[in-house]
Amino acid sequence: QKEDWARLVHEESVTADGHRVELAANIGNPQDAVQAVENGAEGIGLFRTEFLYMGREQFPTEEEQFEAYKAVAETMGKDRPVVIRTLDIGGDKELSYLDLPKELNPFLGYRAIRLCLDRVELFKTQLRALLRASIYGNIKIMYPMIATIAELRRANQILDEVKAELRSQSILFNDHLEVGIMIEVPAAAMIADQLAKEADFFSIGTNDLIQYVMAADRMNEQVAYLYDPYHPAILRLVNQVIKAAHQEGKWVGMCGEMAGESLAIPILLGLGLDEFSMSATSVLRARHLLRKLDYKSLQETAQHVLTLESGEEIRAFIKEEILNKL
Ligand code: PEP
Ligand code: MG
Repeated sequence: QKEDWARLVHEESVTADGHRVELAANIGNPQDAVQAVENGAEGIGLFRTEFLYMGREQFPTEEEQFEAYKAVAETMGKDRPVVIRTLDIGGDKELSYLDLPKELNPFLGYRAIRLCLDRVELFKTQLRALLRASIYGNIKIMYPMIATIAELRRANQILDEVKAELRSQSILFNDHLEVGIMIEVPAAAMIADQLAKEADFFSIGTNDLIQYVMAADRMNEQVAYLYDPYHPAILRLVNQVIKAAHQEGKWVGMCGEMAGESLAIPILLGLGLDEFSMSATSVLRARHLLRKLDYKSLQETAQHVLTLESGEEIRAFIKEEILNKL
C-alpha cells in the first residue's frame, strides 16, 4: 500500500468527483519542510515556531528567526503557502529564560497571544522577522489562542506598527500577506462569524479546542474518554466555524491531529473544510483516501452525522457507511 501512496506525491488532492482541497503539513523546524515536500504536502498549514525559542539560554534574535522563516519559505517555493504561527509559549511549554509565574491552570493561563500582547517587544521582534521573510515565498501569519475580537485587533495593530517601522527603514515585505487565526478556544468558535470579518483565514486547532470544549486535559489519561474529536459538540462547532468563514468568503483549515485521521477526513470534507494540515507522513495516506471519496454525497453524510448522538455512533457510521464501502 505504501508503494501505491508513493505514486501520489505529485498528484492533485482532489476527490473522485473533482472537488479540490489542500493537503498541508505541520512542521516544527525548517528541516521538516524538506520532508513535507518529499511527502507530497502542498503547503505548510502550521509552522510551530516554539522550537526557535526552546532549549536555549536567551530569546532568538530577529536575524535568527528571519533565517528560519526564509528557509521554510524558500523550501516551499513561491506558490505553496506557509502558515507560520506566532509564538505559542506558556501552557505546557516553558522557557528557562522567561520568568513566568507558576500558575494553577497553565492551559487556562498566560500563554500564546495573551503573552505576546503583554510582551510587545518580544512579539514585534517575531513579526519583523516574519514580514522580512515574507518576500521569499507565500508566507501567512497566524495568531494562536485568540478568544476575543479585541485580541485580534490589538495583534493586527501591532503588526501595522511593525509594518510602518519597516517601511520607514525601506525594508521590503509583502504588504498583502494573509493574517489568520487559530480557532482553538471555544469562545472564538462561537463568535467565528464576527472574527471571520477581520481574519483572512481560520485554522481549527482541535488539539486544544477539544480539551477546552470537553473540559478534559489533553494529557490526562484518566479523562481520555472525554477527549473525543468525534463528540457531536466538536463536530457541530467545526461545522459552525466553517460556515462562518465561508459566509465571509474566507478559507478554513484544520491543523489539529484530527485533520489527518481517516475517520475524520470524510466528515470534514463533507462539512466543507478547505485545507487539512497534518504530520508529513500522513499526507499521502490522506490523498489516497481523498481521491476515492465523493464530495457531493459526503455533504449529505456530514449533515446526517451532525444529528447523531455520540462519538462512538459517529465513528461506527463513518466506518461502515463510508470507509468499508470504498
Ligand atoms: C492545536 O491546538 O490543535 C494545535 C494545532 O496547536 P498545538 O498542538 O501546538 O497546541
Ligand atoms: Mg493549540
